[in-house]
Amino acid sequence: MADAKRDYYEVLGVDKNADEAEIKKAYRALAKKYHPDMNPDDPNAEAKFKEASEAYAVLSDADKRRQYDQFGHAAFDGAAGGGAGGFDFNSADFSDIFSDLFGFGDFFGGGRRATRNGPKRGQDIIQRVRISFEEAIFGCEKEIEVNVKEECKTCGGSGAKPGTSPETCPTCKGKGQVVVTSNSLFGQIQTVQTCRECGGKGKIIRDKCVECRGTGYTTIKKKYAVKFPAGIDDGQLACRIPGRGEPGSNGGPRGDILVGAVVGSHSTFKREGMNIYSTVSLPFSVATLGGEIFIDTVDGKVVYDIKAGTPTDTTLRLRGKGVPNVKNKDSRGDHYVKLVVKVPDHLSAEAKEALRAFDAASGDYLNATKNAAKDGIPKEKKKKGIFK
Ligand SMILES: [Zn+2]
Ligand SMILES: [Zn+2]
Repeated sequence: MADAKRDYYEVLGVDKNADEAEIKKAYRALAKKYHPDMNPDDPNAEAKFKEASEAYAVLSDADKRRQYDQFGHAAFDGAAGGGAGGFDFNSADFSDIFSDLFGFGDFFGGGRRATRNGPKRGQDIIQRVRISFEEAIFGCEKEIEVNVKEECKTCGGSGAKPGTSPETCPTCKGKGQVVVTSNSLFGQIQTVQTCRECGGKGKIIRDKCVECRGTGYTTIKKKYAVKFPAGIDDGQLACRIPGRGEPGSNGGPRGDILVGAVVGSHSTFKREGMNIYSTVSLPFSVATLGGEIFIDTVDGKVVYDIKAGTPTDTTLRLRGKGVPNVKNKDSRGDHYVKLVVKVPDHLSAEAKEALRAFDAASGDYLNATKNAAKDGIPKEKKKKGIFK
C-alpha cells in the first residue's frame, strides 16, 4: 500500500483505552458492513474490510497491541530489522466472529485450524535501550544484553530428569484436548476442552529436571550488537532481531527481540520530529549594528552573519542542520534558532559612559520625560518585582 497507513484505533473507530469487548464489537460491525460476500464487486469495501481485519488482528492480541501502542505500524512492517514483511492474519482469532456472523470460521484459510496444543509462536521480547540525543541524530551501535531462554543443556529441553523422559498424558492420550460431554436442556452437548492434566501439552513430566525445574529452558544473558539508525526518535523501534525472542510452545517458532530507543534530552537543543530548536543570546551591539556570531549546531559551531537592526525573538533557519530522515540519512530537517537580544548589565564605568553618549546621539531617551511638559501626567508608584 502506497498510502500512509491509518491508525488502527481510528480504523475501528474506538478509543485508545477501548477494552477487548469494545474492539470486538467495533470490528464485528465493520466486518458485517464491508465483508466481500455482502459487497460483491466493490473493491472499496474489500479494502475497508481488509483494513479493519488487520486492525482487529493487532488490537485483539494483547501482545501485538502493546507493540503497536509503543512503536506504531513500525512494530510490524519489518523494515527496521529485516523481519518478514506482510501481515500475519493467522495469529489472530477471527474464527468466533465469523462463525458467529456468517456461520463459518475459516475465512482466512488453513492457519486457523491449529488446535490449542498445536505449534504456537513465542512472545516477542521488548528491550528498551537508552541512547543520547547526539547518538539518536547520527546513529550508533550498541551492545545490548538480553535475558533469553535457551534450551536446558541438562535435559536437552525435554524438562525431564536425565535418564527419564516425558510420558504421554494418560488423560488425553497425548492430544492435549479432551471431549467433555454435558447435559443441557437440548440434550447432550459435547465440547472440546484443553486437557487439565497436561495443560494441553499432551505430555507429562514425572521426574522434573533439576536444572530447569521441568521447563526445558534456562535463562541466560546474551549479547547482541544493535544498530540505531541516524534520526531515530524517542520510542521508535530501532531494530528487530528475528527468532530470538521467547521460545514457542509445541514446536512453534520463537518470537523476536524488538529493540526500542529511549532518547535522552540535550541541554541546548530540543527536537521535534526532524527539526531542531535552540535559543541563542544576541549581544545588543551586534543586533543593532549587525555582525557575525557563533551558533552551536549538532554538527558543531557555525558562523552566522546577523543583519543590522535584528529585533529580539527573530528566528533563523539553518537549512539541513536538523535531524536526518531515518530512512535516508542524507535528507535532513532544519535547525531553527531563536535570537534573544541580551540587555547588557554589569557594565563598566567606561561602557556606561559610552552608552550615555550613544543615547544622547540617538534620541536622548534617558532624558525623554525630564525634557517634556509633565503637567497632568501622574507618576506611577514603583511596584515590587516585575510581572509578566
Ligand atoms: Zn532441564
Ligand atoms: Zn493431557
